[in-house]
Amino acid sequence: MIQLTTATAIEKAIKKARTVKPRVRVNCFGSYTVTNKRTGATYTVTCEKRDGKRFASCTCRAGELGRACYHLAAAVAAHIQLATEQASH
Ligand SMILES: [Zn+2]
Repeated sequence: MIQLTTATAIEKAIKKARTVKPRVRVNCFGSYTVTNKRTGATYTVTCEKRDGKRFASCTCRAGELGRACYHLAAAVAAHIQLATEQASH
């Protein structure tokens, strides 16, 4: 579980996500399944808000170690988009 403070904290992961272009499926608001289209590896990313702070976690090895992986970055991007869409309704 990592805290999402600024975009720069996961900038590297975002760059990798742009290269790998994993598929992000929305399970529900805050829960995403990220698939590496090349290897078929699937991970679950959870985004949540606690005390006004945003946290995210991924089930991959890097995610378990508290590192920002590209699965997390891809899911967070989808999550932010979803949250923005909901807020505008
Ligand atoms: Zn991951």
